[in-house]
Amino acid sequence: MDYRRRQSRLQQLYATHQVDALLVTHLPNVRYLTGFTGSAAVLLASAKPLFFTDGRYREQAAVQVRGAKVVIPHGSAFSAAAKACHGQRVARLGVEADRMPLSQFQALRRELGKGVKIVPLSGVVEGLRAVKEPSEIRLIRQAIQLSSDLFPALLKALKPGQTEISAAARLEYLARRAGAEAMSFETIIASGKRSALPHGLASPAHLPEQGFVVLDYGVVSQGYCSDMTRTVHLGRATAKERSLYAAVLEAQLAATEAVRPGATCGEVDAAARRVLRRVGLAKFFTHSTGHGVGLEIHEPPRVGAKSDAILEAGMVITIEPGAYLPGRYGVRIEDMVLVTSRGSEVLTPVDKALIELL
Ligand code: ZN
Ligand code: ZN
Repeated sequence: MDYRRRQSRLQQLYATHQVDALLVTHLPNVRYLTGFTGSAAVLLASAKPLFFTDGRYREQAAVQVRGAKVVIPHGSAFSAAAKACHGQRVARLGVEADRMPLSQFQALRRELGKGVKIVPLSGVVEGLRAVKEPSEIRLIRQAIQLSSDLFPALLKALKPGQTEISAAARLEYLARRAGAEAMSFETIIASGKRSALPHGLASPAHLPEQGFVVLDYGVVSQGYCSDMTRTVHLGRATAKERSLYAAVLEAQLAATEAVRPGATCGEVDAAARRVLRRVGLAKFFTHSTGHGVGLEIHEPPRVGAKSDAILEAGMVITIEPGAYLPGRYGVRIEDMVLVTSRGSEVLTPVDKALIELL
C-alpha cells in the first residue's frame, strides 16, 4: 500500500474544502492513510503529517505507520495536535464532523484557541476509499473467497431443531479456523417467520422443519470485509415461496446488470425495485439495494433510491435486494460486485439457484 500517495491525493482536495490540514480521527481512515491497525490514534494530515498515539502502541506504530511522523505525547493527542497546528501555521483545520463526539470538538476548540478555524467536513477520506486500488481488490477477493468457502459447511450446520445461534457458532468457529480476523458484522441467521426480519441476528430460535433461512455473513481478512447473503429453504419450498425467491433473484440480477461506471447508485437501486414492483412486491423491499464495502462493512457509496453518487471503476458494492412478507417469510440475495471499466464483475462465487435442504 502506498500511504504517501494516498495522503498526497487527500491533500489535493484541501483547496476545494478550503482547509490547510485535516484532523483524521476515524480509525479506518487513519489506517487507510498510514497503515496503523491499533485502536487509538489521531492523524494530523498536513504538509508535515503527524501521527499521535499513546504509549501502548509505541512499538506497533513504529513498525506500521508510514507517511507520518509518530508522536507519543504526554498529554492528550488533541492538545498535541492543536500545538502542532500552531507550529505548522495551520489556519483552517478540517475535522471529520461525522466522527467526532461533541466533547472532543469542544476540547479541540479550547486547545486551538482563536487562531485556528475548525472546518467540519464529511466523507473526505471515505470518498478516496470508495475507489479501491488493485491491491485492495486483491485483499477483498481473498476475504470473499474465505467466506464463500465456508458456505457448504454452514449449510451442513442447518439442522431442524438446532438453534440459529448454534449454526452461527459453527460458521464463526470455522471462519476463525480458516484465518478470519473477525466476522465483519454480527451473523444473521433468520429462519422461518424470522426470515421476514431484514436484520434478524442469529437468535435462540430453533430451525424449523420447513421454511426459509436467510444467511447473511462476512469475514474480515487482512483488514478487508466481505458480505454475502443467501436464502436457502429447509424442506421443499411451496410454489409461493419459489415465486418470491425467483422475483428477488430477478431483482438482484437486474440491479447487477445496471452496475457500470457512470451509472448513479439511484439507477441501480431503481433496477431492483422495478422488478419487484412489476410483481407487486416493491412495498416489501424495505431497505437500500446495497452499500460499499472495504475496510468497513458499510462505507460509501450507498446504493439507495435517493443516492445520486456516480459509480466509478474500482468501486466495490453489494447488491442485496430482498422482500419480506411480515409474519410469514422473507428472502434476500446479496453479492459483492466490482465496478469495472466496462461494467461489473460479480465477486461472490456462490451459486444463487434456490437450495432446498431435504
Ligand atoms: Zn450482508
Ligand atoms: Zn450488505
